[in-house]
Amino acid sequence: MKKFLTLLLLAVMLFALVGCNGNFVEEKSRNADNYTIVMSYDNDNHKLSATQTVTVTNRWDEGVDSLKFHIYANQYRQDASWSVVTSSYRSKAYPNGSSWGNITFDSVSCNGEAVPYVIEGQDMDILSVPLKETLQPFQTVEVDMTYEIQLANILHRLGYGNNTVNLGNFYPVLCFWEDGEFQCTPYYNIGDPFVTEVANYDVTVNVPTEFLVASTGALAESKTEEQRTTYRYTALAVRDFAMVLSDKFKVTSQQVGDVTVNYYYFADSDSASALSVAAGMLSYLSEKVGKYPYSVFNVAEADFCYGGMEYPNLALVTSGSSQYLTATAHETAHQWFYALIGNDQIKYAWMDEGLTEFVTMLYMDTVQEGSLHTSIKNAFRTYTTYVDVLGQYGKLDVSLRAIPQYKSDSEYVYMTYVKSSLMFYSLYQTMGETKFYKALSDYYNNCKLTVAHPQNMVSSFSKAFGSDMSGVFDSFVEGKDIIGQVE
Ligand SMILES: [Zn+2]
Repeated sequence: MKKFLTLLLLAVMLFALVGCNGNFVEEKSRNADNYTIVMSYDNDNHKLSATQTVTVTNRWDEGVDSLKFHIYANQYRQDASWSVVTSSYRSKAYPNGSSWGNITFDSVSCNGEAVPYVIEGQDMDILSVPLKETLQPFQTVEVDMTYEIQLANILHRLGYGNNTVNLGNFYPVLCFWEDGEFQCTPYYNIGDPFVTEVANYDVTVNVPTEFLVASTGALAESKTEEQRTTYRYTALAVRDFAMVLSDKFKVTSQQVGDVTVNYYYFADSDSASALSVAAGMLSYLSEKVGKYPYSVFNVAEADFCYGGMEYPNLALVTSGSSQYLTATAHETAHQWFYALIGNDQIKYAWMDEGLTEFVTMLYMDTVQEGSLHTSIKNAFRTYTTYVDVLGQYGKLDVSLRAIPQYKSDSEYVYMTYVKSSLMFYSLYQTMGETKFYKALSDYYNNCKLTVAHPQNMVSSFSKAFGSDMSGVFDSFVEGKDIIGQVE
């Protein structure tokens, strides 16, 4: 009996250990929605044909009568009320002139029965799926849809350029549930206007054989027949799913522990450096913040109009960017701040962008690719110049606010990246590096695979420092901070 108890105790301890360290991804996946997408890419017409099945479980505390999905692909329409890029990015995004795209549905059904779906939202960017019966808490419904996406010739999250086909935010994704309703936020053309819960993905794509695919998830199988190759990827508990296709890709890889880091590139003449930065950052944050729990991380050089774009297991870095290695490090750091630890990127973009920006400065300093002192000095100079110039034109708002409250791309960038990185520097200076990373480890342990609230971040910093840090956050967020001279 005693031996039995000892064995039982050992088994319980082992289970607890495995549960704590390793498999929080698998654990989370058991309580997440499932997306299965099977699609084919027609490179002659730049069209995607897809069937998608989503199993949605009501994890809210009230019944719902309809489900709402973002259809970002529809924002690329000619008759859209606003463009996916602001006028300042127009020529960069559309190097070959205007081009349009959209998504059209052939059918939508729930639990096998066709339903009268509606395309709605502020700019025809929401798919509303009525349910025959109210979906009660803990009940699950299966939604099947068949659709076609026309890609625009745009160097954006979704679109094709001369070298890459970017498939970001392409599929209908369930809107975030908050305050008793689905948040049917539009596709703002500033920032990364997304907030999603993690889900499980099983995505199959059929492409001409000459294409290589950089994707979220791990490759489960591939098959080539009649000049076409079918790749199937699976991913448990990831925040989003994206791909980059190219018939010009070459690939180079490096192992970081049990993670394979792949770098897909077509023009980069120094692929070794980009791979090394991505692998280095992955290793750095795994050690400093918390283990990267997936088996693969891909970086893709891409035709893109901003510096880069982050997706789970996948970072797009803009081909020809003058800050290519810094952008690679930045997008890799987003694997923690946005992908693993989610946040509402519409309301609180500073939570992931400012932190990612500052952690990138720290990493580049550590690997002697740039000094922290210089990076902070530059950020400080950029910020104060901006404030001085803007201050001459009347009332100045330097609060860190929600995307729709910014008037321009530049205002968003100065606040969300530059000023916010100075806020994290200020915390770093006050706490020292050990406590700073202790705070981020705590933040990771408490909030991984969730959508964190600013309060979660403040709590972790306060706990690590040993006293309340909310004043520092509040003064920066509310715009009442006085940033002192950088030594
Ligand atoms: Zn970023």
